[in-house]
Amino acid sequence: GLLFADGPTTALDATIQKQILDLLLDLAAETRTAILLITHDFGVVSHTSSRVAVMRHGAIVEVGETAQVLAAPSHEYTRTLIASVPEIGQRHLQGGRERRLLDAAPATQRVHLADRPAAAAPRAEDAPILTLREISKEFVLGGLGTGHDRSVVRAVDAVSLEVRRGEIFGLIGESGSGKSTLARLSGALLPLTAGSVTFDGVDLADADAATVRQLRRRFQYVFQDATTALNPRIKVGDQIARPLVRLGKAANRKEAAELTRRALELVGLKAGYGDRYPREFSGGQRQRVVIARAIALEPELLVLDEPTSALDVSTQATILNLLLDLKHELNLTYLFIGHNLAVIEFVCDRIGVMQHGSLLETFSADDLFQPGRHPATRALLDSVLPIHAHAASPEESRARG
Ligand code: ADP
Ligand code: MG
Repeated sequence: GLLFADGPTTALDATIQKQILDLLLDLAAETRTAILLITHDFGVVSHTSSRVAVMRHGAIVEVGETAQVLAAPSHEYTRTLIASVPEIGQRHLQGGRERRLLDAAPATQRVHLADRPAAAAPRAEDAPILTLREISKEFVLGGLGTGHDRSVVRAVDAVSLEVRRGEIFGLIGESGSGKSTLARLSGALLPLTAGSVTFDGVDLADADAATVRQLRRRFQYVFQDATTALNPRIKVGDQIARPLVRLGKAANRKEAAELTRRALELVGLKAGYGDRYPREFSGGQRQRVVIARAIALEPELLVLDEPTSALDVSTQATILNLLLDLKHELNLTYLFIGHNLAVIEFVCDRIGVMQHGSLLETFSADDLFQPGRHPATRALLDSVLPIHAHAASPEESRARG
């Protein structure tokens, strides 16, 4: 028989994805069924397929043995697509300030700023910009009832963490591990059940309203789903400009409009796009709008909650490159949340691993493959489907010569 599988694991965690794919492969082998698998993930292709065809604009541009196509693609489009995906264990090849992914999108004209006077590399002894001390959050399910059907979810469980000024701190964990809740607690978008949050030396629990308003400006969010982050009925320019006035970044509407145009240009959109509604943008452009809204306030800390999880691989590359550029030009600190370990390893300086509400360990991204990693971290590593078989780890590729 023949089984069509159209993106069967697109919305799943790496761990579950691997289980489902392996199950599918076993069943197909036992029942001698052929599979036509549709995906945008080259790791999935590499793990499952003997042959692969690459489509663009409704046409097949390349078809061949998977190993052959991945190792030596003959079409330019295939080459660009493959190179736009961060590959686990390749960080040492793309290290430092110049970290970049190949960007398949048509060249975007973005306005660049000179990097701010080089901030010294973050040091452990410097005052952290964000300090979480033993923070916990419990959600009561079955809300109003007082009976036996009430249960408590401990979404974040006594997490302590310091984010250093100037670093990109990556938070990874399976879905439901508490990453988004931690992000919202960090910026006082949710009340804590226990613990304390300190932003640049100020304990949020002690801060008065004016101070909190100030902090709101210095601390901004970019969430996964740009569609729900934006109001569909308001022009995006107004959505960027209003907080500027409300939070005191702009003295008046004229100044806010000027800052809005500049922010749009910084993320590679035309200044005039402010007159458009969210639906008039592509998914990648909408995520740029959300980033523009955040950086227009000139924040110091940006919390990015799965900012590229909803995007295809080439749009993801564009957005990741944009974020890396903006970080240097605007001297930002990122708390970068994701569930794709290859993306986290590529983007981040340090990494923290969450599971069931707990922060299991933190380490430098350069040490991801060091011995002694927590078993849950190793499980996340094992579930990554590398594009190239040799990319399993730098150690392994060295060992193989
Ligand atoms: P992640 O971002 O890692 O996927 P979340 O922080 O969204 O995880 O969720 C952690 C846990 O808390 C999950 O079990 C989730 O169902 C639960 N949770 C999150 N928000 C709420 C809420 N508002 N009410 C009840 N439970 C919630
Ligand atoms: Mg989340």
